[in-house]
Amino acid sequence: MRRFKQYTIEQIEMFLSKYEFKRQIYEIHFHHTWKPTKQDYLQAEDKEKIILGMWKYHTDVRGFSDIAQHFTVAPDGTIWDGRDLEKNPASIYGRNNGAISIEHIGNFDEEKLEGVQLEASIRLIVAIIKNIKNKQDRVPILVFHREYSDKTCPGLLVDKGEILKLINERLNYSIPFKDVTSDMWSYEYIKRAAELGLIKGDGNGNFKPKDYLTREQGVVLIMRLYDLLKEAD
Ligand SMILES: [Zn+2]
Repeated sequence: MRRFKQYTIEQIEMFLSKYEFKRQIYEIHFHHTWKPTKQDYLQAEDKEKIILGMWKYHTDVRGFSDIAQHFTVAPDGTIWDGRDLEKNPASIYGRNNGAISIEHIGNFDEEKLEGVQLEASIRLIVAIIKNIKNKQDRVPILVFHREYSDKTCPGLLVDKGEILKLINERLNYSIPFKDVTSDMWSYEYIKRAAELGLIKGDGNGNFKPKDYLTREQGVVLIMRLYDLLKEAD
């Protein structure tokens, strides 16, 4: 039976300060689980069951060789291990070679990535970058799943510019800034609309920013706005 282990961020930092990757790492992938949500995790009595549920879904339903990701950052700021670090993840279609995949438990279309979980996430990414910078002549770039997919992942409320700012504050140089999300001229408005609860993705964790708006979606949007303005009266 597959088992997973839970670590503190200090333990992970210690581990990464000594670990030697045998493969080249080009990208760090940033995801949210969407399901389970933060609430699902916090309410679960046996937290490992949540990780095992993901593993089972990835291997049985998706047909992956193991859990898709290398690390899972939990809402309580702990980090679960995952796939062998020397193996490519099942992370982003067409971009798995040379990638490290980080999952964040939560539905950040509606919940907030904040507090100890955000802190652990930033420290984990910084520890990976520091590890790799010492051994490779190039440092990996940070990639949000949605940059290469119709998904909202890692959630409409997670702003890549803010994440990069937090990472760069802890490094004395800037990691290469390849940010397709910030090229999306509409992102600032998408984020604000999500914060107000006006948009929530399509219920499957997808957003498809270039898709047409249907008549029913238009009506829902108008009525959410109407309710919001009425509350503000
Ligand atoms: Zn994702």
